[in-house]
Amino acid sequence: MNSIWEQFVGNLAFVSLAFSIWAHLSIWFQRLFVRCERVVFGIIAGGTSIGSVLLAVEFNPGIYIDLRFAPLALAGMFGGPLAVGIAAPLAVVFRIVIGGAAVVDGVLAIMAVSAIGLAAYFLVRKRTPRFLDVFFLTVAVGSALFILMAVLPTLSKVDTLSAVGLPMAVMNCAATIICGFILLRTRQLHRERRMLETAFSQSPDYLYVKDRDSRFITVNDNMVRLFRFNSADEMFGLSDFNLMTPPLADELYHHEQEVMRTGTPLIDSFEHIGDRFMLASKVPLRDNEGRVIGLAGVTRDITERTALERELRKNRNLLSHAMAGMSDGFAMFDGDGFLLFCNEQYRDAFPLSGDARVVGAHISDIVRRVVETRERVGIPLEAGKEWAREAAATLHRNKNEEVQLYNGDWRSIRTRLGEDGTAIVVVSDISGMKQAEVALRASAEQLKTLSETDGLTGIVNRRAFDEAFVREAARCARNNTPLSLLLVDIDRFKAYNDTYGHPAGDQCLRIVSRCLLKSVRRPADIAARYGGEEFVVLLPETRPEGAIVVAEQFALHLNEENIVHSRSEFGRVTASIGISSARGRMLLTEPSRLLSVADAALYDAKTQGRNRILFRSLANGIAATKEVG
Ligand code: GH3
Ligand code: MG
Ligand code: MG
Repeated sequence: MNSIWEQFVGNLAFVSLAFSIWAHLSIWFQRLFVRCERVVFGIIAGGTSIGSVLLAVEFNPGIYIDLRFAPLALAGMFGGPLAVGIAAPLAVVFRIVIGGAAVVDGVLAIMAVSAIGLAAYFLVRKRTPRFLDVFFLTVAVGSALFILMAVLPTLSKVDTLSAVGLPMAVMNCAATIICGFILLRTRQLHRERRMLETAFSQSPDYLYVKDRDSRFITVNDNMVRLFRFNSADEMFGLSDFNLMTPPLADELYHHEQEVMRTGTPLIDSFEHIGDRFMLASKVPLRDNEGRVIGLAGVTRDITERTALERELRKNRNLLSHAMAGMSDGFAMFDGDGFLLFCNEQYRDAFPLSGDARVVGAHISDIVRRVVETRERVGIPLEAGKEWAREAAATLHRNKNEEVQLYNGDWRSIRTRLGEDGTAIVVVSDISGMKQAEVALRASAEQLKTLSETDGLTGIVNRRAFDEAFVREAARCARNNTPLSLLLVDIDRFKAYNDTYGHPAGDQCLRIVSRCLLKSVRRPADIAARYGGEEFVVLLPETRPEGAIVVAEQFALHLNEENIVHSRSEFGRVTASIGISSARGRMLLTEPSRLLSVADAALYDAKTQGRNRILFRSLANGIAATKEVG
């Protein structure tokens, strides 16, 4: 029995050797074309099957056991219909030719196992076969052989199942799994090799391998195109001396010899070939003993890149010159809020946060510095963080801002958005303009006050009173509220002037004004100099009773002043007051009646003896007189 097993092992070695040889040859055949490779694979599988039969072990007289099935199953699975279509007929014909007791059974078994291999091919056709697939094929082949020996007419008669079944199935399984593994590994190597070849030949760079004498061993497609050859083979054995001018070829040759002599790679060395700019890297290649046997080179054409970089440098220089020369601060932020570039003026425009405004800084860091240093006026003390967040979030908006700094300076900040999401910021110093604006506003205010003030007494003048009168009459008419008016005239003032002189008269007018101001309480009340020694008091939303109270208050204050007037019947300066009051439509249609009625009341007060208050109603002319003092 032992010798039978040894013969089986010899048979197995033969089958494995045949598949190993095929694995090496297949790389070469595959280059021709796939169909040719499959035809040859079919012939080799068929031949191996026949060889195994020739080395068959005779178990019983006329019953031969061999490994013919494994090559056929693998031809089916790895070579498809074409390979098994050649291998199986070869095996069948041979089996018929050698004859013997179990010809029919042998042919049937060959057909069955080939069919199993073909079925496996169709099952794994759309993907890469794995080791598990080979394992299942092995199990299928082993099982099929077992079953066949039990059912086939001749083999079943001689009870082969118990005598031959096990070694037959086991050895065919071993052959299937070993040779299947060899084919799987070969396919994997093919794939990797193809990928490397594709990467090498189709790389956008110029790739080449040279021997120790700087002659090309292989080059990629780009190299072939660059030097106008038809295929890489045409460049085999050539050197740079065949392709370039002698001085340039000489220079490159010396560089390469230096790399191979020292074993030090040359990385990114600049080469100027014709009108092209190249960046070349060359690494020495070594054999298994570490001896340098050549070099591999990669050359990248950087002509366009170099031109672009030069253009970019030029534009950047132009831009930085322009930015340095301008009086405004200039900054550019990208779409994410990072500062791309800025000029010195931009940094100088912000004395406290300038150091945070550097290229690469984020807008939120810059705004945080502004808050920390309180550089800007108007940052809320409590909610500084929210203010900073809001300010950073609004960077990418078109806007014009005028901001005041801690030292009173003003900056105009104009932000404009670019199409690519960048934000351009231009900062100008507008402190001078702002100061002029503030001064102008103050002088306008002053001018307005002056134009509304009486020069002698400092109270509202006649012009301002006229405006206020029209405005208040309309307002009270609209709201249907009363409007009262006091006309005040100093008694015997001509005599006062004559007695005490004009300057004393002026002083008296000032005191009377002060008394009037002291008598009015509400903000809307207006005491004005009406002309000469006459005054008027306008009391919006005030009824006659209230107006009389104001008049009495004034008379009281004037009495308290007690200005001596020797030519007055009262011995001191007194005044007569005429009061009128109205509400409703009348104020809208004929507001001047309020003045004429008050004037009439004043006239009555004079004629009735002076130093008195007289109210006259508009409706029926009823007068109420009140003597003062
Ligand atoms: P009556 O009691 O009837 O009001 O007599 P009166 O003297 O006050 O009346 P009249 O209208 O005759 O005199 C007004 C005087 O007021 C005339 C003028 O000398 C004086 N006067 C007007 N404006 C000023 C002023 O600005 N300063 C001074 N000191 N006197 C003025
Ligand atoms: Mg008068
Ligand atoms: Mg008078």
